[in-house]
Amino acid sequence: MHATSPIRTTCPYCGVGCGVLATPTGPESALIQGDPEHPANYGRLCSKGSALGETLSLQTRLLYPQIGPRRVGWDEALDKVAGEFRRVIDTHGPEAVAFYVSGQLLTEDYYLANKLMKGYIGSANIDTNSRLCMSSTVAGQKRAFGEDVVPGCYEDLEQADLIVLVGSNAAWCHPVLFQRIVKAKQDRPGLKLVTIDPRRTATSESADLHLAIRPGSDVMLFNGLLNYLRQHDRLDFGFMEHLVGLSQALEAARDSAPSVPAVALACGVPETDLVRFYQEFARTEKTVTAWSQGVNQSSSGTDKVNAILNVHLATGRIGKPGMGPLSLTGQPNAMGGREVGGLANQLAAHLEIENPRHRAWVREFWNAPRMAEQPGLKAVELFQAIEQGRVKAVWIMATNPVVSLPDAAAVRRALAACEFVAVSDCEAETDLAAYAHVSLPAAAWGEKDGTVTNSERRISRQRAFLPLPGEAKPDGWIIAEVARRMGYAEGFDYAAPRDIFVEHARLSGLHNEGRRLFDIAGLAELDAAAYDVLPPIQWPVNAEHPAGTARLFAAGGFPGPEGKARLLPLPPQPPFNPPDLDYPLVLNTGRIRDQWHTMTRTGKAARLGHHLPEPYAELHPDDAARWEVADGALVRLESRHGSALARARITPDQQAGSVFMPMHWSDVQARRGLVNALVNPVVDPVSGEPESKHTPVRVGAYRPV
Ligand code: SF4
Repeated sequence: MHATSPIRTTCPYCGVGCGVLATPTGPESALIQGDPEHPANYGRLCSKGSALGETLSLQTRLLYPQIGPRRVGWDEALDKVAGEFRRVIDTHGPEAVAFYVSGQLLTEDYYLANKLMKGYIGSANIDTNSRLCMSSTVAGQKRAFGEDVVPGCYEDLEQADLIVLVGSNAAWCHPVLFQRIVKAKQDRPGLKLVTIDPRRTATSESADLHLAIRPGSDVMLFNGLLNYLRQHDRLDFGFMEHLVGLSQALEAARDSAPSVPAVALACGVPETDLVRFYQEFARTEKTVTAWSQGVNQSSSGTDKVNAILNVHLATGRIGKPGMGPLSLTGQPNAMGGREVGGLANQLAAHLEIENPRHRAWVREFWNAPRMAEQPGLKAVELFQAIEQGRVKAVWIMATNPVVSLPDAAAVRRALAACEFVAVSDCEAETDLAAYAHVSLPAAAWGEKDGTVTNSERRISRQRAFLPLPGEAKPDGWIIAEVARRMGYAEGFDYAAPRDIFVEHARLSGLHNEGRRLFDIAGLAELDAAAYDVLPPIQWPVNAEHPAGTARLFAAGGFPGPEGKARLLPLPPQPPFNPPDLDYPLVLNTGRIRDQWHTMTRTGKAARLGHHLPEPYAELHPDDAARWEVADGALVRLESRHGSALARARITPDQQAGSVFMPMHWSDVQARRGLVNALVNPVVDPVSGEPESKHTPVRVGAYRPV
């Protein structure tokens, strides 16, 4: 497959979901351009997206199946995986096995993995690395709306008069969306941008106002805003017929955030800045509040999401042009994973695993022999269960938990103790590879077909434009082959990804009649040719909305009981582990501009390595002086869970009392540079999302022994 005309596909990195035109120039290279017709980016690409053509080298790829270090044929490898899972299930039951999957999987792959685990193996022990980035938003939206739904779209950013970015360094992490915001500000100088982030970042450089709040004080800030809006008579009384819980939420806001001075003190921001923000929000109807991991990755992440949703619901600013809450998902297909039930507490098609009627519908639709009856283990508890020996076989697909999960030492212990570990991956040399009993070579971006869904509910095609290298196979093929060998040939007999997609679409319309908004029944009749040319489209897509839907909820119509949305009373909770005398600094982890996740792809593009070439720790000058750390020196960070080495960067952009360290480097790429060696495995009790932005640490100069 060496097409000379460009193939339309979608960037495999962040949740913006930019359209890409890829023209292969050889088996390991392609010319990459932004797709001018894709509504997410209209031709723009960021540094990572534009370097995609430089990441296609096969040099470090996993190209053949292996059992341990031994190269084997596909039959032997697949028989081994199916046999080990069957053995463990027969001996210990279905709860003793698990899949750990990824927002990098295509929707079709994700759908099959869920179907196999939840409908055929009969356990819900399938969780995903998306748990680490957006599960607090899933839980918050479900609590507020009754379903995990993003109400608005990217165009709202251009139509807004005020954009509030909370816990989001969009300039680096969602760059094309940020480019759209900057352009909108240039076109309309009246558009104001407020950033809320403990750090001063590239994003806050462009802001009209930056509130450098104390880490973890977001609920207090938004409770204060809700109280301010009530005091200044800015609630939307016309919208209240669509709401429940308003008076309780207002009461909790008044009790916890009684005055602007009290909120300013608790959040650690100047009172004048806080008043400016509250006044701006109160008087600007067209307001979009967008947020990302700074909100989600917290032991009270779900409450933080609901605190934001509360103010939008109370002001009726939702689902209308230029206004609404907008969650920015981290991964290219975090949304698609949610649609197929990719979290351990979900069923496919936004159905609920704890609802017996929903389980019965799915069981019948799948003709499932053994349906999961209860939620499974969420990511952090899943690996704890492996370490404790309760889960004895795990299949990890398209993700590297050794690098990305908190408390890396515990994850390593779990994998070392696990009876059977299967790994599907594109890359051979990862921190995870050493733990694999069977390694399955997966097709990479550009080598397989399917769909992904971006942060505005837009489904886009990923299309193959390169041949499959070595013996690599698409993830969906691998899952279906294992399923067949476990005795489930009938449920996994698909000729192509299109067959899986239309089944997924049919399931979304099943027993629905408008009750659930995730409904793509309008795509259930796509034939192969129509699937091949499917243009980007926002769900719901059904008889009522055949061309898709940009916005939801402008006139109510929430999926919750009686069609109403719920506001929640939210007493602010401090981060679970406060700093103390032994570990006096707060570690915040995050992304940098030119790397993606564990760098298996972006690490191959030399020019992306020039921006920030090694693990670093940013410190405020006061902390640097106190701990005798010089700018550029090698430092050792320590927490109660482990230690890591990094190059010190001294900057006033970092709040005193805190440290920032990027998440990308693994021990393979930079020995001892793994930030998750430090991070505490504390999770939000509602969503199960780890508190990756608040671990007590200490810092000192590195002295080799
Ligand atoms: Fe890819 Fe995100 Fe950059 Fe768009 S903004 S090109 S989706 S990394």
